[in-house]
Amino acid sequence: MSKKLIAGNWKMNGSLATNQALLQGIRGGLKAPACDIAVCVPAAYLAQCQGLLAGSPVDLGAQDVSQHEAGAYTGETSVAMLKEFGVRYAIVGHSERRQYHGETDAVVAAKAQQALAGGVTPIVCVGETLAEREAGRTEEVVKRQLAAVIHLNGHCISEIVVAYEPVWAIGTGKTASPEQAQQVHAVLRAQLKAATPQAERIKLLYGGSMNAANAAQLLSQPDIDGGLIGGASLKAPDFLTIIAAAG
Ligand code: PEP
Repeated sequence: MSKKLIAGNWKMNGSLATNQALLQGIRGGLKAPACDIAVCVPAAYLAQCQGLLAGSPVDLGAQDVSQHEAGAYTGETSVAMLKEFGVRYAIVGHSERRQYHGETDAVVAAKAQQALAGGVTPIVCVGETLAEREAGRTEEVVKRQLAAVIHLNGHCISEIVVAYEPVWAIGTGKTASPEQAQQVHAVLRAQLKAATPQAERIKLLYGGSMNAANAAQLLSQPDIDGGLIGGASLKAPDFLTIIAAAG
């Protein structure tokens, strides 16, 4: 099995001063990490964070990417722009984008396609709402969301990262139990296996209130290959503890 991936999602948080302190804290505390690491920062801070991460094992990520190549799309950031700042990953289809910006499965697929075409690895988020879980629709929802990105034109599905993020667990302090998370990861893995012989290479991250206290148990599940971490990625000691748990 390849290395685990621990990716922070800063969301719309940070400032020049706090970013510097956070990244210096992470860099200073890293001891020969055994996993891959990334921080997905606000677009406004890509240049600053590229500089602060130079020469470190921490990769730079973005939180979104436009589905378009260039042109009259006010407020959007193209994959070519991300590449200029050394971006390796871009989150696509985060539930906050799906919920507040109306991103459909088709838009998420177009964004994943753009990212891959431009040489950036999409971290494709899937996950059910509480209402969907309570209605027994978890499997159906995550399978539909994953199906949208499974056959991208000309690109192998094995080039993407998938993050299972139950919407009810994001920023709520409610974590899926390791068993609940593993159950859904197994479903996603089976779907990937049916699509490609390379399924074992695809990293399946868990996200949703992962923190320093629960990371080790979640990361020990057989189909959990890493974490996408929001709140706890804003505190260097907590993020470092999660990185150590992935070793
Ligand atoms: C996220 O936003 O991707 C996330 C998992 O957030 P949190 O860890 O804060 O629940």
